[in-house]
Amino acid sequence: MYNIPLFDLNFGIEEETAVLETLRSKWISTGPKTAAFETDFSGLLGVGYSLALANCTVSLHLAMKILGIGPGDEVICPSLTFVATVNAVRYVDAIPVFADIRGDADLTMDPLDIERKITSRTKAIVVMHYAGFPCAMDEIMRIAKAHDLKVIEDACHGPLSEYRGQKLGTIGDAGCFSFFSNKNISTGEGGMLVTNNEALYDHAKLLRSHGMTTLSYERSKGHSTGYDVVESGYNYRMDDIRASIGIVQLKKLKNDLLKRAEVRQWYEDAFAEVSRVVVPFKGHNGFVSNYIFAVLLESSCRRSRDEVRDALHKAGIQTSMHYPPVHLFSIFREFSDSLPVTESAASRLITLPMYSRMTKPEVEYIAQTLQDIIHG
Ligand SMILES: *Cc1c(COP(=O)(O)O)cnc(C)c1O
Repeated sequence: MYNIPLFDLNFGIEEETAVLETLRSKWISTGPKTAAFETDFSGLLGVGYSLALANCTVSLHLAMKILGIGPGDEVICPSLTFVATVNAVRYVDAIPVFADIRGDADLTMDPLDIERKITSRTKAIVVMHYAGFPCAMDEIMRIAKAHDLKVIEDACHGPLSEYRGQKLGTIGDAGCFSFFSNKNISTGEGGMLVTNNEALYDHAKLLRSHGMTTLSYERSKGHSTGYDVVESGYNYRMDDIRASIGIVQLKKLKNDLLKRAEVRQWYEDAFAEVSRVVVPFKGHNGFVSNYIFAVLLESSCRRSRDEVRDALHKAGIQTSMHYPPVHLFSIFREFSDSLPVTESAASRLITLPMYSRMTKPEVEYIAQTLQDIIHG
């Protein structure tokens, strides 16, 4: 009998040692570890600037702020995403305009629908790279350029994922990452904002710490004695305890993703023999993070998604559902639109276990169990 979780943290002694070292250094708030984490992150992504933050939600908020998005501006965004992507649009009193996804085989935003939703008030597009699979960035950047729109990448699912040789999060004006426990990089809570634009970075750094012109760490080193406050900022900082975990996690990332790619291949092979199940992004040949592994039941499947999830649970397989469409939540009903492709896919979607330490027999057991549930 199996008991397969949805996700398993890849922590080891290295993370424990890093935290102990930071605790014993007695500098536990934003300081040298945070700076080193940012430098390492920029190096890994080949991006100009990285700013470590408390989480990705505030990273998305800062992206809106530094790109000058404000009251009444329209921001085109996905609905098949975590709600934080869209909450961030509301933090600056902008209007979310939802765009549909491409279809069962590609759960990312449809450039045609993005273009259809553009009005004279549109200011930006927020994209979300589902499971680490890239949105159609060539088309989306072309649309953005033609209409003078900013592009924010919610790259929470895709650290190190690539689109035509470029790392996700580095293609638009700003990229946002999360280090929540169950992400590819885990620090408990944590986030990063990346950009190649120095002025945007400077502005985000100012807003990260109350709009103050220097940080306490810099003052403690005697580099500065006073400070000014030039804008109403926030406390969106990451601390050095989390940053020290992040530094270790970055070292593990590439290997972890290579293992996940292998797990995904086992899934694709096993599901080749299961009818009535669609594997989105099947055969995709770029380097991707495989943050989650989602499948869709075909409309002709005689079992409902919830029935199938219940049966999987009884067989010891934990599942989830990424995501309930954001445009259907009560708080977003006033901005709601009909998104037939998103609604259909979301009603048939099941997220299956995915983590680097999964074994081939576990993957085969999951595929076989799903086959038995659907066809049994
Ligand atoms: C996790 C996640 C977020 C939120 O990140 P936090 O660090 O928890 O604030 C936003 N968008 C997507 C797509 C996510 O997966």
